[in-house]
Amino acid sequence: DSPAADRSTADGAAPSEDDDEKDVKKEDESLLRKLIHSELIKSKTDIEVLRKDPNSPLHSVKSFEALNLKPELLKGVYDMGFNAPSKIQETALPTLLADPPVNMIAQSQSGTGKTAAFVLTMLSRVDTSLPHPQCLCLAPTYELALQIGEVTEKMAKHMTDLRIRYAVRGERVSRGETLADHIIIGTPGTVMDWAIRFRAIPLKKLRVFVLDEADVMISMQGHQDQSTRIQRELSKDCQMLLFSATYEGQVMEFAQKIIPNDPVIIRLRREEESLDNIKQIYIECTSVEEKYQALCNIYGSISIGQSMIFCHKRKTASWLAEKMTADQHAVALLTGELTIEQRAAIIKRFRDGKEKVLITTNVSARGIDIEMVTVVVNFDLPVTLDWKADCETYLHRIGRTGRFGKSGLAINMVDSPRSMAILKAIEKHFGRKIEKLDTDDLDEIE
Ligand code: ADP
Repeated sequence: DSPAADRSTADGAAPSEDDDEKDVKKEDESLLRKLIHSELIKSKTDIEVLRKDPNSPLHSVKSFEALNLKPELLKGVYDMGFNAPSKIQETALPTLLADPPVNMIAQSQSGTGKTAAFVLTMLSRVDTSLPHPQCLCLAPTYELALQIGEVTEKMAKHMTDLRIRYAVRGERVSRGETLADHIIIGTPGTVMDWAIRFRAIPLKKLRVFVLDEADVMISMQGHQDQSTRIQRELSKDCQMLLFSATYEGQVMEFAQKIIPNDPVIIRLRREEESLDNIKQIYIECTSVEEKYQALCNIYGSISIGQSMIFCHKRKTASWLAEKMTADQHAVALLTGELTIEQRAAIIKRFRDGKEKVLITTNVSARGIDIEMVTVVVNFDLPVTLDWKADCETYLHRIGRTGRFGKSGLAINMVDSPRSMAILKAIEKHFGRKIEKLDTDDLDEIE
């Protein structure tokens, strides 16, 4: 079953057929990032403090000792292998732990240490001798709530009296029960039921309220209203915190609504990706089979470390994976019909070097750190829904952050006048030449 019959891979139908993958949910993307980022992302950009607290001079800390944490909490932090605060933690933690408490809105990309920062705040403020909920953390989904819980349990390893309760689907409270757990982590719907319908969580007694993944939260039906209803019941002196990976207008509008009293706003800008140090080439073919042959020539003649191959459609990706596997390449295939756990497992294997080639479609690869890969192949060039060059995706696939980032190679496969026009548009957009490669002189690219 060759995708040659599928005209859209070459030059025909619009890229919106049933095996197209446009529908990766924001919450899935977010979970995938979490599962993949087992390490801190080190950012080289500076923290921006957009609104300070006029009462406390803003300072940053360079060590966890400087925060005067409870000894058992400090021990937990070190047990997790954290030696020093991350960039966002350096600035956020002194404010998060200050007395009297200050509200905060913080934004930085996934993997920069936000969860660890608010978990530390909850654990540092909780008093386990008081038998009622004191901290409430809202997350967009069941899985994301459990992820936060896992971090909390780890960091609280030495706080043996601490009780955590998950307010998520499948969990129940009995009628008339008032929770005696110290920290509640849950999704807005269940928390609203427990707190407002069953009165099982006395919201007025909460000391810390955290709303995590605000950008995902607002993309989900009902979550915004439910969160707002919960927040409205809190006491005025409950510390209110909101975290987000992105900083769009809508997120900030919601943030400003739900976090009152002049919150401190901090932001860690994402580093720009660039095409510096990337060699870009293209190969001209006339059919999908010819593209495959050219690809084989490349893999057969130059030594490539790990590479990613992007296809437009799931069908092309599977076809290519089968063919390459039959030709003795160690290939992994990542597409959107897989569950989030399956996808995370494939990415982990690839990251550990178990396979050398990762074939994927555009959408299912969102959220993957491509920096570890030195060769990126655009088996199909990235296009928007109306068949224009998708320059943003192009940059995202092959670009690198940091001026001294690893150099890389981008190989673009052209198979029709239309894809040639797209290539020219990309070239023009970035003002950088994409050289033509004849598969006979491959030494050129080594
Ligand atoms: P975010 O919530 O911004 O996505 P996390 O708090 O989940 O980020 O942190 C991302 C990864 O970095 C996690 O694996 C976490 O254990 C780790 N991490 C967080 N803070 C530190 C730190 N200070 N030192 C080392 N690793 C850290």
